[in-house]
Amino acid sequence: MAAVVLINRAGAAVADESIAQFRASCRGVVIGPADAEYDTARRIWNASIDKRPGLIARCSGLADVIAAVNFARDHDLLVAIRGGGHNVGGRALCDGGLVIDLSRMKGVHVDPRAGRVRVQPGVMLGELDRETHVYGMAVPAGVVSKTGVAGLTLGGGVGWLVKKYGLTCDNVISFEIVTADGQVRQVSADEHPDLFWALRGGGGNFGVVTSFEYRLRPVSTVLGGLLVHPRDRAVELLQRYRDFTQSAPDEVGAYAAMLHTPDGAPVAAIVTCYCGDLSEGAKLLEPLRKFGPPLVDAIQPMPFPLMQTTFDGAVPDGNQNYWKSSFLRALSDDAIRVMVRHANDATSPLSAVLVEQYGGAASRVAPTETAFAQRHAQYDLGILAQWTRPEEADRHVAWARAFADAMSAYRSGDYLLNFLGEGEDEAIKAAFGPNYLRLVEVKTKYDPANLFRVNQNIQPAAVAAG
Ligand SMILES: Cc1cc2nc3c(=O)[nH]c(=O)nc-3n(C[C@H](O)[C@H](O)[C@H](O)COP(=O)(O)OP(=O)(O)OC[C@H]3O[C@@H](n4cnc5c(N)ncnc54)[C@H](O)[C@@H]3O)c2cc1C
Repeated sequence: MAAVVLINRAGAAVADESIAQFRASCRGVVIGPADAEYDTARRIWNASIDKRPGLIARCSGLADVIAAVNFARDHDLLVAIRGGGHNVGGRALCDGGLVIDLSRMKGVHVDPRAGRVRVQPGVMLGELDRETHVYGMAVPAGVVSKTGVAGLTLGGGVGWLVKKYGLTCDNVISFEIVTADGQVRQVSADEHPDLFWALRGGGGNFGVVTSFEYRLRPVSTVLGGLLVHPRDRAVELLQRYRDFTQSAPDEVGAYAAMLHTPDGAPVAAIVTCYCGDLSEGAKLLEPLRKFGPPLVDAIQPMPFPLMQTTFDGAVPDGNQNYWKSSFLRALSDDAIRVMVRHANDATSPLSAVLVEQYGGAASRVAPTETAFAQRHAQYDLGILAQWTRPEEADRHVAWARAFADAMSAYRSGDYLLNFLGEGEDEAIKAAFGPNYLRLVEVKTKYDPANLFRVNQNIQPAAVAAG
């Protein structure tokens, strides 16, 4: 294999002297292909991604980020931004270019009196939950504790609290960002409101966000956990899930899943999290818990940070992954039957199928009020192929694709940006929906040369015109 070097977008190698100057200007560590840490530093959650950056700048703070953005722009480099490294398509990395790695920027500062928290972009959800839980508060975010707050927030952010308290991006008060010109901008409803609009759902298109300020919500002990049933009851269970979620109050977050137990038995499950009064919750969840009866009923009161780890074991670091995801028009009986049939054909016991319901507070915000457009209450289907041996990729990917094709009659044509894998350009545009043209305007204003393009990319006007 040819030696990896830092190249610009025209393919020319960057001079060693320039790289040395950049290294010397950073407080954090700058890692090149010859460094011992290189292979660890280019590893992300999805082991299917094998990209070889020319340089990885592991920033220690805002000044390093400014230096990295200026270095990238001045040398016309391909740039990727790494937060928690959980983007399934590997958008935290690039080949031959510069990775602005924020994973060591881990500050979390809770201001309990103001009900706010400031978070640096290398923080993972579990790390944020740990600090806010001290004060009996939480930021509504995703459902796996190692996901990065940064990428998740910029793409919208859905999780157990979405119906009660909205998307993660709905709970942002302000951002600090380094834009392509190397300027630091404080962004809120009052300052750079166009950017404030775009950063709430527009992904990593507009610069490197170095700080997120969130509103805190009173969430401490929740009633939640897993209900596990044998797979042969999956059709009935999904119907019950649909009927329950149609009328459940906003305090209830509930997902349905088809997966395997650690010893390989196919099962169907409901995972739920109730964030209101616990005795009310117990009454409300009773019909769901009586159905079956389940093989396992693990629903119990628990600290919210523990609830946030329910799925962690099912999606460990370092496995091979390929995802297909789309919203459904409705969770009809026909759609359920097709889903169960394809789930039963899964080629790997590590693969899973997830149905998630959103709506509530998130859907009471107009689709054009922030860049996140997919606000109408609906079900999202996630087909999550997962395996361990790289050489088996073809058959597991083929399973996910065939499953997704079979669901085409039931898809709404809308997508969640955060769940899109590589090579899904049309789906990316569809995810932005009616906000796409306005996003192009904001992108053109703040990043006219498309410096930040390793993401769910919005092409600025001049670049799109060729
Ligand atoms: C196991 C798993 C569970 C998940 N669960 C959920 C969930 O419950 N809810 C949900 O909404 N999503 C979920 N996701 C999707 C997740 O939100 C996205 O993949 C998101 O991009 C992850 O953010 P990250 O910082 O970890 O990603 P990274 O891979 O580090 O970054 C992804 C992209 O985000 C952008 N980005 C990251 N940091 C910055 C920054 N500081 N400034 C500018 N741009 C930046 C860049 O464009 C980058 O390419 C899950 C993903 C996985 C793998």
